[in-house]
Amino acid sequence: MASNSSILLDLPPLPSYILTPRVPVLAPIPDNILSLILPVVAYWVVSMIFHFIDVNDLFSQYRLHTPAELLKRNHVSRIDVVRDVILQHIIQTIAGLGLSFFDEKEFVGREEYDVAVWARRIRIMQRVIPTVLGFIGIDAIGLSKSLSAYPALSGFLAGGVYPDLVQKLVLDNGNVSMAPAHATWELVVAHFIYSYFIPGLQFFFAIGILDTWQYFWHRAMHLNRWLYVNFHSRHHRLYVPYAFGALYNHPVEGFLLDTAGTGVAFLLTQMTHRQAMWFFTFSTIKTVDDHCGYHFPWDPLQLITSNNAAYHDIHHQSWGIKTNFSQPFFIFWDRFMGTRWQGDVTLKYERARTAAEKQVERERSENNGQPVKTVLESEPGPLDAGMEDVPVQERAPRKILPRTTRSASKRIHGVNGSIRQK
Ligand SMILES: [Zn+2]
Ligand SMILES: [Zn+2]
Repeated sequence: MASNSSILLDLPPLPSYILTPRVPVLAPIPDNILSLILPVVAYWVVSMIFHFIDVNDLFSQYRLHTPAELLKRNHVSRIDVVRDVILQHIIQTIAGLGLSFFDEKEFVGREEYDVAVWARRIRIMQRVIPTVLGFIGIDAIGLSKSLSAYPALSGFLAGGVYPDLVQKLVLDNGNVSMAPAHATWELVVAHFIYSYFIPGLQFFFAIGILDTWQYFWHRAMHLNRWLYVNFHSRHHRLYVPYAFGALYNHPVEGFLLDTAGTGVAFLLTQMTHRQAMWFFTFSTIKTVDDHCGYHFPWDPLQLITSNNAAYHDIHHQSWGIKTNFSQPFFIFWDRFMGTRWQGDVTLKYERARTAAEKQVERERSENNGQPVKTVLESEPGPLDAGMEDVPVQERAPRKILPRTTRSASKRIHGVNGSIRQK
């Protein structure tokens, strides 16, 4: 228990508080462990929703690529993707568990005290108001007296002087004394700062840190041939990304970009475990959404930022691979560093779409009218910008399975990665 033994006579006293351990959201699972479980659960739940949409060919008008492209252009099988994503989830969970040994136990009970600290800061800051208004020729003290019918405004203009706001205080020795009290507006603002503004800032900075971390590592993975060939080219086996391929990476890259990136953002912003739960899970869902393969006009994650599935899809194309590095939230680094894709992409998408359709038709005719599904052996992505997909007909098919090749309607793919029905 902390007590407020030193009362500052001109400031409202701070309340005492008693700390108790925070009860976990989902007892008996500790919050820091739940913050490791939730992103994995969210990854697969959200991915499976998109997968359901994909295999049932729903909302085909919003597809970024046709089923024929999905069938022919990727250089890795879905089972290999699932295997590597599970490996990444295992690595990130082990890393999180290792970090959790250093976590301090979280307590509750001092919220009212912390709000009062902010209210006191607000009171102290008001002292400069008469001086500041004096610089622009306003007599704040005189104005305050003439506005005495409005105590809150009058006290504010006087520099945080509220003579009528007092409270009874029981001192440590049992005596009762009178002490200054906070105005209601001060407590409301203090509560907003403590409960919303500071946590909002922590999320804002965490997003900024993660975006910065990922941009420069991602860009380095493309600029450094060794890094690209040995690690990042694996992610680029997906020319036609789909939701559960979002974390299809080399384990080293997965740890370095995703696990370490979110971990650093968490540590630097001093988030609580409950905030981390939101941040880790939201970042995961955002990454899945960026790889979902659909440009939904009603998907809030694709509306709040320009960094959406269509934007990142350009980076997955052989001609756009040296652009649009920003991930997963905003595109400001691509803007600042001049790496944002410029130009119309409609024809480029149309060309890939047509080539895949033709290939499917050709193979269908060569296989007695049956559609052919070519599941390619895992091969690296393009080694350099401008390098086109290795022609898929040069590789031997591994499995032959029927699959729908109903083509989506003709679309326009805008310069900023937006896509719409024509
Ligand atoms: Zn890349
Ligand atoms: Zn990607």
